[in-house]
Amino acid sequence: MSQTRNDSPLRKARRGRQERRFEQKSSPAGWISLAVTVVGGLLLGAGIYSQWVADPALSYASWIVGAGALVAASTIVWGTFGAPAVRVGDAGIGLERPGQPLRRIAWSKVRSVSVDRSDLVVAGESDKLSIRLKDHASAAAWIVKEAAARVPKTVRVHDDQKALLPQTAEADGELLTVEKEQVTGAKCCASGKVITFEKDARLCPRCGEVYHVSSVPVRCLTCEADLTSLKA
Ligand SMILES: [Zn+2]
Repeated sequence: MSQTRNDSPLRKARRGRQERRFEQKSSPAGWISLAVTVVGGLLLGAGIYSQWVADPALSYASWIVGAGALVAASTIVWGTFGAPAVRVGDAGIGLERPGQPLRRIAWSKVRSVSVDRSDLVVAGESDKLSIRLKDHASAAAWIVKEAAARVPKTVRVHDDQKALLPQTAEADGELLTVEKEQVTGAKCCASGKVITFEKDARLCPRCGEVYHVSSVPVRCLTCEADLTSLKA
């Protein structure tokens, strides 16, 4: 019998840690921004051509270069190519930031998941991620669904708010393997021992809590998942 329908967090752990990546659905603002950048680039190109390549140079060419550069620069500074991509899965909730490391909150560190006006807010121990429902309805639906399965006590989303979220589907987002997570330097949740070697770390497959291989409890101290398979 096929077991593909069994997607419990523990079973997932055996086939590697995974997460879904959600890009913002293309928005009018994103398209306008892209169009303006293209126009800026074309102006810049036309200006450079007429000033330095065309013979004789056109008298207004330097104005075209200036205008093109200004338009291109303004979209780089103010342009919005869309909200940052969101990741949801075994490693918790992640927010991509251009040119910077991913901002992540592991499920074990999530303190609350709630809706604040137009945002889904995931509050961690020391960090908070806000995701605009308008930009990321599907990702928000997955966050609420996964939080309810992994750390149900943290979910503070009312039923009428849940009703506004789209249905989740297996085909949502792009399924990725979780990149190596930084576990060295973390403290074992059971013994307080600092993880010095990556190979000594064991992560709870449901909430991502970190344990030292020598002190894995039978049940996760954070989410109560059965950890006997990690002890072996
Ligand atoms: Zn756990």
